[in-house]
Amino acid sequence: MSEDATGGTRVVLASNNAKKLAELQRILAPLVPGLTVLGLADVASYDEPAETDPTFAGNALIKARACVEVTGLPALADDSGLCIDALNGMPGVLSARWSGISGADKDRANNDLVLSQLSDVPDVRRTARFVCAVALCLPDGTEVVEHGEMPGRILHAPFGGGGFGYDPLFAATGYDVSTAELEPAEKDRISHRGHALGAIAPRVASLLA
Ligand code: IMP
Repeated sequence: MSEDATGGTRVVLASNNAKKLAELQRILAPLVPGLTVLGLADVASYDEPAETDPTFAGNALIKARACVEVTGLPALADDSGLCIDALNGMPGVLSARWSGISGADKDRANNDLVLSQLSDVPDVRRTARFVCAVALCLPDGTEVVEHGEMPGRILHAPFGGGGFGYDPLFAATGYDVSTAELEPAEKDRISHRGHALGAIAPRVASLLA
């Protein structure tokens, strides 16, 4: 297994998102002593592959496999999105680009589109869930995928200034406020990503220790 200069184990998170890297380090550090989680900024740059699979797990694997192939190091990658029951599970894997808009206005455009699509949908049918798949791929070909979910409902207007993406529109089950109104640590505790990372942490520990 890959070791750093001090004999610790290294894994690369195939993401340029600094918040995801910090979150992963926070969750894995106590569970996998001596583990160093590198970001893409720490390895030779490469063209990230297109996320072409219809499933979260498939896209997480595409990203993790590409990272192992280029770096030769164990790699972790995640893929996530919002599945709305009244939209037959969409935007799903298309969550990031649902409105077709990219750049700084992307989140607002996505949220406006979802609100207009659900404008006639009553509360009882506004159920939804965030889903996250995390993949671990090793240079020897071993592959592990774990999932996490956060069930809830779509609100009638955006609330709160925290979080990102669809957080202002989403209230988790058991909460009266949107996930954009939660403290980050509280969202981590109940989130799809938190659950998926919590599930994969013991696998990382047993496969990389
Ligand atoms: P990715 O997995 O980071 O590429 O995220 C895909 C898209 O799903 C994001 O661009 C957001 O639109 C949405 N998404 C995923 N997780 C969350 C979340 O925790 N809050 C709000 N939106 C999210």
